[in-house]
Amino acid sequence: EESCESLYRVVLLGDPGVGKSTLVSVFAGVQEKDSLEQQRDDTFERTLSVDGEETTLVVIDTWEAEKRASEEDNWLHSHCMQVGDAYVIVYSITDRGSFESASELRIQLRRTRQAENLPIILVGNKTDLVRSREVSVEEGRACAVVFDCKFIETSAALQHNVTELFEGVVRQIRLRQDSK
Ligand code: GDP
Ligand code: MG
Repeated sequence: EESCESLYRVVLLGDPGVGKSTLVSVFAGVQEKDSLEQQRDDTFERTLSVDGEETTLVVIDTWEAEKRASEEDNWLHSHCMQVGDAYVIVYSITDRGSFESASELRIQLRRTRQAENLPIILVGNKTDLVRSREVSVEEGRACAVVFDCKFIETSAALQHNVTELFEGVVRQIRLRQDSK
């Protein structure tokens, strides 16, 4: 039986270069860099089977384009903050500045979507770059506790924990649906 109820929009936020587009391409199953560059759309859709139930995620990776446009148009800037059913806030564990930006994005999101209990996942990406680490796992986890969101570290380059990340998004969405 088909159900269109289990389709959710997931928006990726985070500084340029933290690995958002790489995470999305791994999730979408785009293996070759060439085909990724040819992909003009920055929205990807995939159906996941999580705990025996199917859910379709539409992953939106337009944050940078929206941010550029926002210099001319404030309405566009807030678009990303409005459309998500769930949010993935990405920083790079090799870039403390991106970790600080993640906190700012969390605050901005709370301000924009005040009344809603949104699923938010904080992601520390690039765990393969062990020797360049600037943000510890403990700091990431503590930040997630303060901001009341889930936390996971990933390596998009090694495709490590990427599936787990998006399965976690699905579970967080379902938890909130069930409690409504
Ligand atoms: P975006 O600007 O957030 O979309 O970041 P991109 O996905 O374009 O990635 C920026 C750069 O970081 C690219 O050169 C990627 O190949 C690289 N990158 C992304 N994820 C990882 C990762 O997990 N490990 C490493 N070593 N590099 C990564
Ligand atoms: Mg990108």
